[in-house]
Amino acid sequence: MQRARRLDEVPPYPFAELQRKLREARAQGIDVIDLGVGDPDRPTPPAIVERLCREAANPEHHRYPDYAGSPAFRRAVAAWYRRRYGVELDPDREVLALIGSKEGLAHLPWAVLNPGDVALVPDPAYPVYRVQSLLAGGVPYPLPLREERGFLPDVAGVPEEVAGRARLMFLNYPNNPTGAVADLEAFEGVVDFCRRHRVLLCHDAAYADLVLDGPPAPSPLQVAGAREVVVEVGSLSKPFNMTGWRIAYAVGNADALGALGVIKTNTDSGQFTAIQHAAIHALESEAGGAIRAMTGLYRQRRDRTVEVLARLGFRVRPPSATFYLWVPIPEGWTSAGFAEHVLSAAGVLVTPGSAYGDHGEGYVRLSLTVPDDRLDEALRRLGSRPDLARPRG
Ligand SMILES: *Cc1c(COP(=O)(O)O)cnc(C)c1O
Repeated sequence: MQRARRLDEVPPYPFAELQRKLREARAQGIDVIDLGVGDPDRPTPPAIVERLCREAANPEHHRYPDYAGSPAFRRAVAAWYRRRYGVELDPDREVLALIGSKEGLAHLPWAVLNPGDVALVPDPAYPVYRVQSLLAGGVPYPLPLREERGFLPDVAGVPEEVAGRARLMFLNYPNNPTGAVADLEAFEGVVDFCRRHRVLLCHDAAYADLVLDGPPAPSPLQVAGAREVVVEVGSLSKPFNMTGWRIAYAVGNADALGALGVIKTNTDSGQFTAIQHAAIHALESEAGGAIRAMTGLYRQRRDRTVEVLARLGFRVRPPSATFYLWVPIPEGWTSAGFAEHVLSAAGVLVTPGSAYGDHGEGYVRLSLTVPDDRLDEALRRLGSRPDLARPRG
Protein backbone atom coordinates (compact mmCIF):
# COMPACT_ATOMS: atom_id res chain seq x y z
CA MET A 1 0.00 0.00 0.00
CA GLN A 2 1.16 3.54 -0.75
CA ARG A 3 1.31 5.92 2.18
CA ALA A 4 0.73 9.55 1.19
CA ARG A 5 3.87 11.68 1.29
CA ARG A 6 2.04 14.41 3.19
CA LEU A 7 2.10 12.15 6.25
CA ASP A 8 5.90 12.27 6.28
CA GLU A 9 5.67 15.75 7.77
CA VAL A 10 3.35 14.69 10.57
CA PRO A 11 5.05 13.82 13.86
CA PRO A 12 3.50 11.00 15.90
CA TYR A 13 0.54 12.32 17.91
CA PRO A 14 2.11 12.88 21.33
CA PHE A 15 -0.63 11.23 23.32
CA ALA A 16 -0.56 8.14 21.14
CA GLU A 17 3.19 7.94 21.96
CA LEU A 18 2.47 8.41 25.65
CA GLN A 19 -0.14 5.67 25.59
CA ARG A 20 2.48 3.38 24.12
CA LYS A 21 4.98 4.19 26.92
CA LEU A 22 2.22 3.68 29.45
CA ARG A 23 1.34 0.25 28.04
CA GLU A 24 5.01 -0.77 28.02
CA ALA A 25 5.52 0.21 31.65
CA ARG A 26 2.30 -1.47 32.72
CA ALA A 27 3.28 -4.64 30.82
CA GLN A 28 6.42 -4.69 33.01
CA GLY A 29 4.15 -4.74 36.03
CA ILE A 30 4.70 -1.09 37.01
CA ASP A 31 1.62 0.55 38.53
CA VAL A 32 1.84 3.77 36.52
CA ILE A 33 -0.18 6.82 37.53
CA ASP A 34 -1.13 8.69 34.37
CA LEU A 35 -0.81 12.46 34.70
CA GLY A 36 -0.27 12.64 30.94
CA VAL A 37 -3.48 13.08 29.06
CA GLY A 38 -6.00 15.82 30.00
CA ASP A 39 -9.25 13.94 30.25
CA PRO A 40 -11.58 14.60 33.20
CA ASP A 41 -11.81 11.60 35.55
CA ARG A 42 -15.24 12.49 36.91
CA PRO A 43 -18.40 11.27 35.16
CA THR A 44 -20.74 13.52 33.17
CA PRO A 45 -23.38 15.02 35.52
CA PRO A 46 -26.30 12.55 35.75
CA ALA A 47 -28.95 15.01 34.55
CA ILE A 48 -27.13 15.32 31.20
CA VAL A 49 -26.93 11.53 30.86
CA GLU A 50 -30.64 11.21 31.70
CA ARG A 51 -31.51 13.78 29.05
CA LEU A 52 -29.52 11.82 26.47
CA CYS A 53 -31.34 8.60 27.36
CA ARG A 54 -34.71 10.28 26.89
CA GLU A 55 -33.74 11.98 23.64
CA ALA A 56 -32.14 8.83 22.25
CA ALA A 57 -35.57 7.17 22.35
CA ASN A 58 -37.09 9.86 20.09
CA PRO A 59 -37.34 8.47 16.51
CA GLU A 60 -37.09 12.00 15.08
CA HIS A 61 -33.44 11.99 16.15
CA HIS A 62 -32.72 8.67 14.45
CA ARG A 63 -32.42 10.26 11.00
CA TYR A 64 -29.53 12.41 9.72
CA PRO A 65 -28.97 15.48 11.89
CA ASP A 66 -28.95 19.07 10.60
CA TYR A 67 -25.53 19.80 9.09
CA ALA A 68 -25.07 23.07 10.97
CA GLY A 69 -26.42 21.66 14.23
CA SER A 70 -30.02 21.58 15.41
CA PRO A 71 -31.61 25.05 15.57
CA ALA A 72 -32.32 24.51 19.29
CA PHE A 73 -28.64 23.75 19.98
CA ARG A 74 -27.51 26.82 18.06
CA ARG A 75 -30.00 28.98 19.97
CA ALA A 76 -28.73 27.55 23.27
CA VAL A 77 -25.14 28.43 22.33
CA ALA A 78 -26.21 31.97 21.38
CA ALA A 79 -28.03 32.32 24.72
CA TRP A 80 -24.90 31.08 26.53
CA TYR A 81 -22.82 33.81 24.83
CA ARG A 82 -25.38 36.46 25.74
CA ARG A 83 -25.41 35.41 29.41
CA ARG A 84 -21.74 34.62 29.77
CA TYR A 85 -20.12 37.38 27.67
CA GLY A 86 -22.85 39.87 26.70
CA VAL A 87 -22.19 38.94 23.05
CA GLU A 88 -25.18 38.72 20.67
CA LEU A 89 -24.93 35.99 18.03
CA ASP A 90 -27.26 35.15 15.15
CA PRO A 91 -27.90 31.41 15.73
CA ASP A 92 -28.45 30.83 11.99
CA ARG A 93 -25.30 32.45 10.65
CA GLU A 94 -22.93 32.86 13.56
CA VAL A 95 -23.16 29.48 15.32
CA LEU A 96 -22.13 26.07 13.97
CA ALA A 97 -22.24 22.75 15.84
CA LEU A 98 -19.04 20.68 15.82
CA ILE A 99 -18.33 17.02 16.49
CA GLY A 100 -15.96 18.02 19.28
CA SER A 101 -13.81 21.12 18.96
CA LYS A 102 -10.90 19.09 17.59
CA GLU A 103 -13.01 18.44 14.50
CA GLY A 104 -13.63 22.14 13.87
CA LEU A 105 -10.05 23.18 14.64
CA ALA A 106 -8.80 20.50 12.25
CA HIS A 107 -11.12 21.48 9.39
CA LEU A 108 -10.77 25.26 9.64
CA PRO A 109 -7.36 25.52 7.92
CA TRP A 110 -8.84 23.61 4.94
CA ALA A 111 -11.55 26.25 4.69
CA VAL A 112 -9.26 29.28 5.03
CA LEU A 113 -5.74 28.64 3.72
CA ASN A 114 -4.45 28.65 0.16
CA PRO A 115 -1.17 26.83 -0.54
CA GLY A 116 1.71 28.87 0.87
CA ASP A 117 -0.45 31.01 3.19
CA VAL A 118 1.01 31.43 6.65
CA ALA A 119 -0.83 30.13 9.73
CA LEU A 120 0.40 31.73 12.95
CA VAL A 121 0.48 28.97 15.52
CA PRO A 122 1.41 29.31 19.19
CA ASP A 123 4.35 27.30 20.48
CA PRO A 124 3.85 25.43 22.79
CA ALA A 125 0.32 24.44 21.75
CA TYR A 126 -2.23 21.74 21.13
CA PRO A 127 -0.66 19.95 18.12
CA VAL A 128 -3.74 20.02 15.87
CA TYR A 129 -3.33 23.71 14.86
CA ARG A 130 0.11 23.20 13.36
CA VAL A 131 -0.37 19.79 11.80
CA GLN A 132 -3.68 20.56 10.07
CA SER A 133 -2.37 23.90 8.78
CA LEU A 134 0.52 21.99 7.28
CA LEU A 135 -1.68 19.24 5.79
CA ALA A 136 -3.92 21.89 4.24
CA GLY A 137 -0.92 23.29 2.36
CA GLY A 138 -0.27 26.20 4.70
CA VAL A 139 3.00 27.28 6.24
CA PRO A 140 2.86 27.20 10.05
CA TYR A 141 4.84 30.03 11.66
CA PRO A 142 5.44 29.75 15.40
CA LEU A 143 4.30 32.39 17.88
CA PRO A 144 6.53 31.65 20.88
CA LEU A 145 4.73 31.73 24.25
CA ARG A 146 7.35 32.78 26.78
CA GLU A 147 7.06 32.68 30.52
CA GLU A 148 8.37 36.26 30.90
CA ARG A 149 5.42 37.50 28.79
CA GLY A 150 2.93 35.48 30.83
CA PHE A 151 2.80 32.97 27.94
CA LEU A 152 1.03 35.55 25.74
CA PRO A 153 2.10 35.89 22.08
CA ASP A 154 4.12 38.87 20.90
CA VAL A 155 2.21 39.70 17.70
CA ALA A 156 4.20 42.94 17.29
CA GLY A 157 7.27 40.74 16.92
CA VAL A 158 5.92 38.93 13.83
CA PRO A 159 8.00 40.14 10.84
CA GLU A 160 5.99 42.32 8.39
CA GLU A 161 6.69 39.92 5.54
CA VAL A 162 5.26 36.99 7.53
CA ALA A 163 2.28 39.00 8.78
CA GLY A 164 1.52 39.96 5.17
CA ARG A 165 1.29 36.30 4.15
CA ALA A 166 -0.67 35.22 7.25
CA ARG A 167 -4.37 34.38 6.81
CA LEU A 168 -5.04 32.42 9.99
CA MET A 169 -3.92 32.61 13.62
CA PHE A 170 -4.69 30.15 16.37
CA LEU A 171 -4.76 31.11 20.04
CA ASN A 172 -6.00 29.26 23.12
CA TYR A 173 -6.74 30.91 26.49
CA PRO A 174 -7.01 29.77 29.20
CA ASN A 175 -4.05 27.95 27.73
CA ASN A 176 -3.16 24.33 27.35
CA PRO A 177 -0.39 23.49 28.30
CA THR A 178 0.75 26.57 30.29
CA GLY A 179 -2.43 27.38 32.26
CA ALA A 180 -2.05 31.06 31.30
CA VAL A 181 -5.10 33.34 31.02
CA ALA A 182 -5.42 36.24 28.54
CA ASP A 183 -7.25 39.39 29.59
CA LEU A 184 -9.40 41.49 27.27
CA GLU A 185 -6.54 43.90 26.66
CA ALA A 186 -4.40 41.08 25.27
CA PHE A 187 -7.25 40.14 22.91
CA GLU A 188 -7.63 43.78 21.85
CA GLY A 189 -4.03 43.83 20.66
CA VAL A 190 -4.45 40.57 18.77
CA VAL A 191 -7.75 41.60 17.15
CA ASP A 192 -6.14 44.87 16.04
CA PHE A 193 -3.26 42.92 14.47
CA CYS A 194 -5.71 40.58 12.71
CA ARG A 195 -7.77 43.46 11.31
CA ARG A 196 -4.69 45.24 9.99
CA HIS A 197 -3.31 42.14 8.30
CA ARG A 198 -6.59 40.47 7.23
CA VAL A 199 -5.93 37.43 9.41
CA LEU A 200 -8.71 35.24 10.78
CA LEU A 201 -8.20 34.59 14.50
CA CYS A 202 -9.39 31.17 15.59
CA HIS A 203 -9.64 31.25 19.36
CA ASP A 204 -9.84 27.87 21.05
CA ALA A 205 -11.82 28.40 24.26
CA ALA A 206 -11.80 24.78 25.46
CA TYR A 207 -10.95 25.88 29.03
CA ALA A 208 -12.95 29.14 29.18
CA ASP A 209 -15.06 27.79 32.05
CA LEU A 210 -12.26 26.20 34.02
CA VAL A 211 -11.02 29.32 35.80
CA LEU A 212 -9.90 28.36 39.32
CA ASP A 213 -9.35 31.82 40.75
CA GLY A 214 -9.76 35.37 39.55
CA PRO A 215 -12.30 36.89 37.15
CA PRO A 216 -14.03 34.84 34.41
CA ALA A 217 -11.98 34.41 31.24
CA PRO A 218 -12.98 36.88 28.50
CA SER A 219 -13.79 36.06 24.87
CA PRO A 220 -12.07 37.88 22.01
CA LEU A 221 -15.60 38.36 20.62
CA GLN A 222 -16.08 40.95 23.38
CA VAL A 223 -13.60 43.22 21.57
CA ALA A 224 -15.30 45.88 19.41
CA GLY A 225 -15.23 44.89 15.73
CA ALA A 226 -13.99 41.37 16.55
CA ARG A 227 -16.71 39.66 14.56
CA GLU A 228 -14.99 40.69 11.32
CA VAL A 229 -11.92 38.61 12.11
CA VAL A 230 -12.70 36.15 14.93
CA VAL A 231 -14.04 32.63 15.13
CA GLU A 232 -14.20 31.11 18.61
CA VAL A 233 -14.42 27.38 19.19
CA GLY A 234 -15.95 26.19 22.45
CA SER A 235 -16.54 22.71 23.78
CA LEU A 236 -18.61 20.88 26.34
CA SER A 237 -15.80 18.36 26.81
CA LYS A 238 -13.78 19.87 29.61
CA PRO A 239 -16.26 21.91 31.72
CA PHE A 240 -18.96 19.20 31.77
CA ASN A 241 -16.76 16.06 31.78
CA MET A 242 -18.06 15.16 28.32
CA THR A 243 -14.90 14.35 26.33
CA GLY A 244 -16.40 11.09 25.07
CA TRP A 245 -19.55 12.75 23.75
CA ARG A 246 -17.96 14.80 20.94
CA ILE A 247 -20.02 17.97 21.06
CA ALA A 248 -18.76 21.52 20.60
CA TYR A 249 -19.44 24.66 18.58
CA ALA A 250 -17.83 27.40 16.52
CA VAL A 251 -19.17 30.96 16.74
CA GLY A 252 -18.31 34.35 15.26
CA ASN A 253 -17.47 35.48 11.73
CA ALA A 254 -20.28 34.25 9.46
CA ASP A 255 -18.15 34.00 6.30
CA ALA A 256 -15.58 31.84 8.04
CA LEU A 257 -18.30 29.59 9.46
CA GLY A 258 -19.85 29.35 6.00
CA ALA A 259 -16.50 28.26 4.56
CA LEU A 260 -16.03 25.75 7.38
CA GLY A 261 -19.54 24.51 6.66
CA VAL A 262 -18.52 23.69 3.06
CA ILE A 263 -15.75 21.43 4.33
CA LYS A 264 -18.02 19.88 6.94
CA THR A 265 -21.01 19.14 4.69
CA ASN A 266 -18.59 17.27 2.42
CA THR A 267 -16.97 15.41 5.32
CA ASP A 268 -19.43 14.63 8.12
CA SER A 269 -23.16 14.69 8.62
CA GLY A 270 -23.37 16.33 12.01
CA GLN A 271 -23.53 15.03 15.56
CA PHE A 272 -26.38 12.78 16.80
CA THR A 273 -29.26 15.15 17.58
CA ALA A 274 -29.93 13.44 20.92
CA ILE A 275 -26.40 14.41 22.02
CA GLN A 276 -27.06 17.99 20.96
CA HIS A 277 -30.20 18.04 23.12
CA ALA A 278 -28.29 16.69 26.12
CA ALA A 279 -25.75 19.46 25.49
CA ILE A 280 -28.57 22.03 25.48
CA HIS A 281 -29.49 20.81 28.93
CA ALA A 282 -25.89 21.27 30.08
CA LEU A 283 -25.69 24.81 28.69
CA GLU A 284 -29.09 25.93 29.97
CA SER A 285 -28.83 24.53 33.47
CA GLU A 286 -25.03 24.73 33.74
CA ALA A 287 -25.66 21.20 35.00
CA GLY A 288 -26.76 22.41 38.42
CA GLY A 289 -23.45 23.90 39.51
CA ALA A 290 -21.31 21.14 37.98
CA ILE A 291 -18.74 23.64 36.73
CA ARG A 292 -18.37 25.22 40.16
CA ALA A 293 -17.93 21.77 41.72
CA MET A 294 -15.27 20.82 39.16
CA THR A 295 -13.30 24.06 39.46
CA GLY A 296 -13.36 23.60 43.25
CA LEU A 297 -12.01 20.09 42.88
CA TYR A 298 -9.25 21.12 40.44
CA ARG A 299 -8.27 24.02 42.71
CA GLN A 300 -7.73 21.60 45.62
CA ARG A 301 -5.75 19.21 43.45
CA ARG A 302 -3.67 22.08 42.08
CA ASP A 303 -2.86 23.39 45.55
CA ARG A 304 -1.88 19.96 46.92
CA THR A 305 0.32 19.26 43.92
CA VAL A 306 2.00 22.67 43.87
CA GLU A 307 2.80 22.30 47.56
CA VAL A 308 4.60 18.97 47.04
CA LEU A 309 6.47 20.19 43.95
CA ALA A 310 7.54 23.42 45.68
CA ARG A 311 8.76 21.42 48.69
CA LEU A 312 10.88 19.32 46.33
CA GLY A 313 12.38 22.55 44.94
CA PHE A 314 10.52 22.90 41.63
CA ARG A 315 9.91 26.49 40.55
CA VAL A 316 6.21 26.06 39.85
CA ARG A 317 3.57 28.77 39.74
CA PRO A 318 -0.03 27.82 40.49
CA PRO A 319 -2.05 28.44 37.30
CA SER A 320 -5.31 30.36 37.74
CA ALA A 321 -7.10 28.22 35.12
CA THR A 322 -7.21 24.75 33.48
CA PHE A 323 -6.32 21.45 35.16
CA TYR A 324 -2.68 21.52 34.07
CA LEU A 325 0.58 22.34 35.80
CA TRP A 326 3.39 23.55 33.55
CA VAL A 327 6.51 22.75 35.49
CA PRO A 328 10.06 23.93 34.66
CA ILE A 329 12.43 20.95 34.80
CA PRO A 330 15.84 20.82 36.48
CA GLU A 331 18.96 21.76 34.53
CA GLY A 332 20.76 19.14 32.48
CA TRP A 333 17.63 17.32 31.29
CA THR A 334 15.62 17.45 28.09
CA SER A 335 11.92 17.42 28.80
CA ALA A 336 11.59 13.98 27.16
CA GLY A 337 14.49 12.62 29.21
CA PHE A 338 13.08 14.09 32.40
CA ALA A 339 9.62 12.62 31.71
CA GLU A 340 11.21 9.17 31.29
CA HIS A 341 13.18 9.73 34.50
CA VAL A 342 9.99 10.56 36.42
CA LEU A 343 8.32 7.48 34.96
CA SER A 344 11.11 5.14 36.05
CA ALA A 345 11.82 6.87 39.39
CA ALA A 346 8.23 7.29 40.55
CA GLY A 347 5.95 5.41 38.17
CA VAL A 348 4.26 8.70 37.27
CA LEU A 349 3.59 9.60 33.65
CA VAL A 350 3.94 13.29 32.74
CA THR A 351 4.01 14.89 29.27
CA PRO A 352 7.30 16.31 27.97
CA GLY A 353 6.84 19.98 27.07
CA SER A 354 8.57 19.37 23.73
CA ALA A 355 5.46 17.45 22.62
CA TYR A 356 3.78 20.88 22.29
CA GLY A 357 6.54 22.52 20.25
CA ASP A 358 10.13 23.69 20.51
CA HIS A 359 9.28 26.35 23.08
CA GLY A 360 7.81 23.68 25.33
CA GLU A 361 11.33 22.32 25.84
CA GLY A 362 12.40 22.81 29.46
CA TYR A 363 8.99 21.97 30.92
CA VAL A 364 6.76 19.02 31.66
CA ARG A 365 2.99 19.12 31.90
CA LEU A 366 1.05 17.44 34.69
CA SER A 367 -2.66 16.86 34.22
CA LEU A 368 -4.71 16.79 37.41
CA THR A 369 -7.43 14.57 35.95
CA VAL A 370 -6.91 11.44 38.03
CA PRO A 371 -9.05 10.43 41.03
CA ASP A 372 -7.92 11.98 44.33
CA ASP A 373 -6.55 8.74 45.81
CA ARG A 374 -4.37 8.23 42.73
CA LEU A 375 -3.19 11.83 42.84
CA ASP A 376 -2.32 11.40 46.52
CA GLU A 377 -0.34 8.27 45.68
CA ALA A 378 1.47 10.12 42.86
CA LEU A 379 2.31 12.97 45.26
CA ARG A 380 3.54 10.47 47.87
CA ARG A 381 5.83 8.88 45.31
CA LEU A 382 7.14 12.20 43.99
CA GLY A 383 7.55 13.51 47.54
CA SER A 384 9.69 10.52 48.47
CA ARG A 385 12.26 11.47 45.81
CA PRO A 386 13.96 14.61 47.19
CA ASP A 387 16.55 14.29 44.39
CA LEU A 388 13.96 14.85 41.65
CA ALA A 389 14.33 18.64 41.30
CA ARG A 390 18.12 18.66 41.48
CA PRO A 391 20.15 19.47 38.37
CA ARG A 392 21.27 16.36 36.53
CA GLY A 393 24.72 15.48 37.96
C1 LIG B 1 -9.03 19.06 25.01
C2 LIG B 1 -8.74 20.14 24.04
C3 LIG B 1 -9.51 20.31 22.90
C4 LIG B 1 -10.43 19.21 22.41
O1 LIG B 1 -11.66 19.31 22.83
P1 LIG B 1 -12.81 18.44 22.17
O2 LIG B 1 -13.95 19.38 22.12
O3 LIG B 1 -13.01 17.28 23.08
O4 LIG B 1 -12.38 18.00 20.81
C5 LIG B 1 -9.32 21.40 22.09
N1 LIG B 1 -8.35 22.29 22.39
C6 LIG B 1 -7.56 22.15 23.45
C7 LIG B 1 -6.50 23.14 23.69
C8 LIG B 1 -7.73 21.06 24.31
O5 LIG B 1 -6.90 20.90 25.33
